[in-house]
Amino acid sequence: MPVAEKMKAIVKDGSTLAVQSVDRPQLSAPGDVIVQVMLAGLCRTDLYAAEGKLKTPDQLILGHEFAGVVADAETDAFKSGDFVCVNPLLSCGRCSHCHRGAHGACAEAKFIGVDRDGCFAGFIVVPADSIFKLPPDMPFLEAAYAEPVAASLAVLKTGITPGERGVIFGANRFSQLLQQIMRVYGFDKIDLYDPVAQKGQLESSVYDYVIETAINSDIFADLVDTVRPGGKVILKSRNHEPLSFRMNEIIKKEPVFHVVNYGSFQESIDLLASGKLQIESLVDGVYPLEQYDKVFEDSKGKESLKPFFAPWD
Ligand SMILES: [Zn+2]
Ligand SMILES: [Zn+2]
Repeated sequence: MPVAEKMKAIVKDGSTLAVQSVDRPQLSAPGDVIVQVMLAGLCRTDLYAAEGKLKTPDQLILGHEFAGVVADAETDAFKSGDFVCVNPLLSCGRCSHCHRGAHGACAEAKFIGVDRDGCFAGFIVVPADSIFKLPPDMPFLEAAYAEPVAASLAVLKTGITPGERGVIFGANRFSQLLQQIMRVYGFDKIDLYDPVAQKGQLESSVYDYVIETAINSDIFADLVDTVRPGGKVILKSRNHEPLSFRMNEIIKKEPVFHVVNYGSFQESIDLLASGKLQIESLVDGVYPLEQYDKVFEDSKGKESLKPFFAPWD
């Protein structure tokens, strides 16, 4: 594969975004792998990072959801030409939290595109243990969805069962994806509820579990109102703003709160490979990096479809 010394990247430079020509990343540590990025999806986390709502280094390549091809590797685990996707949460793998599987709690955890350079670029360097091989016939567009699918699968860690009645709060692509995935797992008694457009239209205290995909204090109060006494409130989004709530309203119901991060990446890839998800219906389009301005701008507040960048273009 021909490789250039420079590459294009969407760089957050202080408070502005720009496409810059930057140095290609190099292999430096044992286990490093350089991946050529084929498709990279934009999500809310990237918008928060771009807007400065998430703390990042001053100079940072954004992006954390992607699929690509191994270009070079400092490990035998991968070779040039392997099709891969990457878990963007990089943890140390050695501490007691990592050993318990609580990688998000690792004191050394770094998130791609937030704490270190991301994937809105021609190439990215990542450690081998964060990389997953893809089936060779999997389209990159599906593979680039592995991260949101793995995030959705986290909901299944809460012990909810298909026989229970549940509702997903949110009118966004994540809530739609989550509903699709849960249906594959047999959860067909699950409703989708738009907490803004349908506000006030849900019955109180009837759902065995409620799941949020974008939260604020009003939605938090609605979740508690909607769940049955002793039911499960599943918190999934990554809101960076503080929430306020009234404990006296919550305590009456004794709900169980589950706050979940990621499910299994391998399970996510297997699910995508099964062909049971309709990913195309959630895709907005594929854009060159140069159109970052329009793509970021259009994505604000419009969360129905996911745009992708094709950095190799
Ligand atoms: Zn994401
Ligand atoms: Zn750790």
